[in-house]
Amino acid sequence: MANNTTTYRVQRALTEPEMTAITAEIDAARDTGGILAAVVRTVFGALLATIGESLASYGPGHKLDPRQFAVPATQWTAISEACTNRASAFGARVTIALELVNVMPSSYDDPSAVIPSRPTVDHRPYEHVLTVSREATDVIAACTRHCDALARHFGEHSREHRDAASSWQPNLALLFSMDFGAATSVRRDGDLSLLVSCGSGFTYGIIFHPIPRRCARAHCTAVISDDGTARTCRRDDLACEDGAHVPAYPLDAPAPGSWSFHS
Ligand SMILES: [Zn+2]
Repeated sequence: MANNTTTYRVQRALTEPEMTAITAEIDAARDTGGILAAVVRTVFGALLATIGESLASYGPGHKLDPRQFAVPATQWTAISEACTNRASAFGARVTIALELVNVMPSSYDDPSAVIPSRPTVDHRPYEHVLTVSREATDVIAACTRHCDALARHFGEHSREHRDAASSWQPNLALLFSMDFGAATSVRRDGDLSLLVSCGSGFTYGIIFHPIPRRCARAHCTAVISDDGTARTCRRDDLACEDGAHVPAYPLDAPAPGSWSFHS
């Protein structure tokens, strides 16, 4: 505290009863907005009381700046974890993490601050209902086959196989995750790509990006398609004058590339 150069309007540890009341109100929230409202009401209610003020004095014309208040970092983390945990009931773990930044106070280092112990409650719904269209099941199978084909062609330890497999596996696991809600619908979005709609309203894509098959000869900028046709981006871009392009990977090889998450 002594070496902290920032001056806050209130900088103190929350008491054990205050921490208990804060997490109880967060646990009772019925939606994402309710969680944020509970944080503002309980955390700033307690901090403002220290200087004889109350939230009633603040409103649209007189905004409370959360950054002018500070609580110990360990308490900050405990409150934030309670919010994220509660948000998993609504598939809003990611949303709440983004929104908390705007409503939480600042933090400072105070290892002696009290964190009341409390039972761990799993707020997630009991089941994740995953609906996969039949075309999407084909895509998932094709993605796995594509990784296997890269291993066969380029080698198990090749960069081509590692880049593809290491990007496909976490994205496949993400389909099963409940971070975005408990009802997820998966649809085809191309031969090797998926479109995912989540119960929370969040939609994302798992998209395969093939590496263009460039010509491997010096000073040539041509890209060669699967049928062997070579093209440059602009007509006057440099390309092999003899037209004898050397594809960076064979025409009949599976396309190297990787999957990425797009929201
Ligand atoms: Zn070339």
